[in-house]
Amino acid sequence: MKSKHKKVKILIAEDDRISSKILEKHITGWGYDVLISPDGIKAWQVFKKNEIGIALLDWMMPKMTGIELCRKIRNNKSGEYTYIILLTAKNKQKDINKGLAAGADEYLTKPFNPIELNARLNTGKRIIDLLEKLHKQAIYDGLTKIFNRREIMRILNEEFLRAQRTNRPLSTIMLDIDHFKKVNDTHGHPVGDEVLVKIVSRITAKMRAYDKIGRYGGEEFIIILPHNSIKSVKKIAERIRENISQKSIQTSAGPLKLYVSLGCTSTENIEANSTEMMIKISDEALYNAKNNGRNCTVVI
Ligand code: GH3
Ligand code: MG
Ligand code: MG
Ligand code: MG
Repeated sequence: MKSKHKKVKILIAEDDRISSKILEKHITGWGYDVLISPDGIKAWQVFKKNEIGIALLDWMMPKMTGIELCRKIRNNKSGEYTYIILLTAKNKQKDINKGLAAGADEYLTKPFNPIELNARLNTGKRIIDLLEKLHKQAIYDGLTKIFNRREIMRILNEEFLRAQRTNRPLSTIMLDIDHFKKVNDTHGHPVGDEVLVKIVSRITAKMRAYDKIGRYGGEEFIIILPHNSIKSVKKIAERIRENISQKSIQTSAGPLKLYVSLGCTSTENIEANSTEMMIKISDEALYNAKNNGRNCTVVI
């Protein structure tokens, strides 16, 4: 997850060395991270390797013009939105129209006014901050701050394709809190919410960096474990279960004992492979864990 106060990276594409030096000095002084490229091709390479928040593009440059670069950035669908400002000596109405039609958000003419440029960068920053906030709201669960169902399913599909490509196993754990309804019924929904948050911390404490967790439903979670044998997944599931069952959960209503049931599967164990099948089998394993008396792990 990106930090809230991360510096915005600004790409300056400008072939004139003196102009780019002046821009760099101003923009760094305003607190941005600056990356400089002397032509369109180099700028495109820098763009692809970095998360560029704002691109400040000259129009006339060798190898690739700012307009071509602008179109390339707009056609690039991966990554987050880049705010594009064209900064050029071309000041005819038809140039402005062409620049905006190529996908620029803003068009400034040279010589530039530093106060105006600073204000335009602030506008760009405001927009990319807003888009980032919306993106976070779209992929994370508001209560537990882990991925929501849509995002974890997107990740599962992505990991599934990667596993197939690399011929490595992929495993899933479905986890459901046992008798969670009782917590709500006895202590109220706010305490239930506290429990959900704390159980997620107990789970993530036993996951590794490349494992992913999402909220699949109310008190049901899915953990995706790339390149893991089913044996190691069972161990991880048991570690998670023990990390929840062995110590009470502290809540504003006092310490509460909670347990979870887990259903695991792996691409190694399923014949008709698909993400839908993985979910179905994990669900079946979870159902069996519930029937076996809860507070246990079942692997299919
Ligand atoms: P089982 O052991 O069979 O899983 O029993 P259970 O009580 O955990 O399962 P059940 O499906 O009967 O109840 C799940 C409860 O989870 C019902 C619902 O009100 C509660 N729930 C779902 N989402 C939230 C939430 O965001 N906050 C709170 N506090 N409760 C939630
Ligand atoms: Mg130029
Ligand atoms: Mg439950
Ligand atoms: Mg449930």
